[in-house]
Amino acid sequence: MAEIDKGAVVEALKAVRVDQLGTDIVSAGWVRDAVVSGGHVTFAIEVPPELGPQLEPVRAEAERVIAALPGVAQVTAVLTADRAAGSAPPPPPPPPPAGAAGHGHGHSHSHAPRGPAPGMMGHGGGTGRLELPNIKHIVAVASGKGGVGKSTTAANIALALARLGLKVGLFDADIYGPSVPRVMGLAGQKPMARGDRIVPLRNHGVTVMSIGFMVEEDSPVVWRGPMVVGALEQLLRDVEWGELDVMIVDMPPGTGDTQLTMSQRVPLAGAVIVSTPQDIALLDARKGLFMFRKVEVPVLGIIENMSYHQCPKCGHREELFGHGGARRTAEELEAPFLGEIPLDLKIREATDAGRPIVVAEPDGPHATAYLDIAKSIWSTLSGDSPEAQPAKKKPRFWFR
Ligand code: ADP
Repeated sequence: MAEIDKGAVVEALKAVRVDQLGTDIVSAGWVRDAVVSGGHVTFAIEVPPELGPQLEPVRAEAERVIAALPGVAQVTAVLTADRAAGSAPPPPPPPPPAGAAGHGHGHSHSHAPRGPAPGMMGHGGGTGRLELPNIKHIVAVASGKGGVGKSTTAANIALALARLGLKVGLFDADIYGPSVPRVMGLAGQKPMARGDRIVPLRNHGVTVMSIGFMVEEDSPVVWRGPMVVGALEQLLRDVEWGELDVMIVDMPPGTGDTQLTMSQRVPLAGAVIVSTPQDIALLDARKGLFMFRKVEVPVLGIIENMSYHQCPKCGHREELFGHGGARRTAEELEAPFLGEIPLDLKIREATDAGRPIVVAEPDGPHATAYLDIAKSIWSTLSGDSPEAQPAKKKPRFWFR
């Protein structure tokens, strides 16, 4: 069956009326960022913040209308209000009236950081976690700010874990700049829908899903405030990940509400913090560490990226930003130091060409450095390390 196009989605949404306005959601200019991918339709309904809580029935109706179109396998409509990312979420919406609660897909993503949708969380309570029984360990790779090499590190760690013989997934949750498709050599590809599930892509022996596969590159506006966490949760839940030993999550940079909520909702076994030497000096990475500790996610360690530069000709090490800050900070904060990765053009070229250095030069020194980091992470996760058994026992580097 031919794929439905975006124009048809918008056309159909003209049937969704808003009583409060006396018009429909398209004429009101509320429909944003409709994306169609393999029968999966995603769009945002951007509403005035003061009306938000009353509009769940409108969201549900919009989903119903699109779900009824031929060629549509799955619909996600999210309510969003025009608020800056990171500000406090609006109050949770009241329960929808009977009969207005969606059509079985259960994607009540409106105002996602609070009020979990039924069937979405593992157990009751507002801070319930997603249940992902097929994934043994989920590890967040985080950074205090963007551009420190978080995605590069996440991809190389995932690839190094796969080289250890583990079943590995890489989930790109960096809504502000999803670069995993490019880094993993999957740019421009789209996952397919199978029934109401999404089939992830795979390359270099790792299963990959990215929010970047689902949005168009020029529509960053869709990922704002309250809808972010709901959309990420849906991807985690609706993607056919299969059985995984480890999932590496490339987190959005920073330590705002979105990151905090994600850290609470996703059952993280631990977090790895990537920092450059100057970033450590600016305390950004410390903020990340404290955020995970606040929500009792064990910090598996800190990695110093772009740590030093080694002259390719003479081998001389240039310490651009006074390297070693991450190691010192790790010691100070009683977090393990996982290793340092130099600033090297080869790492950049390999990453940017979609063949991260662990794949491009598997026997080189950089691949070895990532492999050592991966071994250390795995020994902590699998409980081989006397230091920590995240799921069972509080390791000594937990928040006190
Ligand atoms: P983030 O995810 O933190 O925004 P990226 O992983 O996208 O950062 O990296 C930003 C840029 O820096 C990319 O072009 C990447 O290739 C490059 N880069 C990352 N780590 C290194 C490194 N150790 N040496 C050289 N270039 C690097």
